[in-house]
Amino acid sequence: MNLKEKIREIENFPKEGISFKDITTLLKDGDYFRYAVDSIVNNLKDKNIDVVVGPEARGFLLGAPVAYAMGAGFVPVRKPGKLPGETEAFSYDLEYGVDTLEMHKDAIEPGMNVAIVDDLLATGGTTKAVAKLIEKLGGKVVAVEYLIELEFLEAKEQKLSDYEVRSLIKY
Ligand code: IMP
Repeated sequence: MNLKEKIREIENFPKEGISFKDITTLLKDGDYFRYAVDSIVNNLKDKNIDVVVGPEARGFLLGAPVAYAMGAGFVPVRKPGKLPGETEAFSYDLEYGVDTLEMHKDAIEPGMNVAIVDDLLATGGTTKAVAKLIEKLGGKVVAVEYLIELEFLEAKEQKLSDYEVRSLIKY
């Protein structure tokens, strides 16, 4: 099954010069959606994953079904002020300014095996911040799985060399 043919590329979204990879065209096709989720589940088998962590918002769409299929827990990472309980925060630099992500402090117990699942790897900034949050709480990031990777940005080499990173579709 060629997953890439189901990704729609939209030029100049959300701003001039960006070729946005739209995954909704894949998600709406039941066979392709299942195949994508099953492929990530297959990559994670034998890794004893306790929880899957998914960043807001597209990380929820893939992370939750992956966790369900494996019988693992799911933990959301959110923008500041969205989670009701006590949170741990991590701020990271963007091209212009900073961004902050939050996770519930009690979401991860020390020693847990954690997989990060998200829709797309671009610069790796988001994933790096999520990994740092998990590690702050004592979790072990044993795998990072994406639907799409923008290989030409070299995030794997430049930001995520400490982690086992895989993707299903490459640009
Ligand atoms: P990074 O932090 O630079 O790796 O950016 C990755 C984050 O930006 C992911 O959470 C994606 O959801 C989002 N993102 C960046 N570019 C795209 C795109 O072309 N399509 C969908 N999401 C994108």
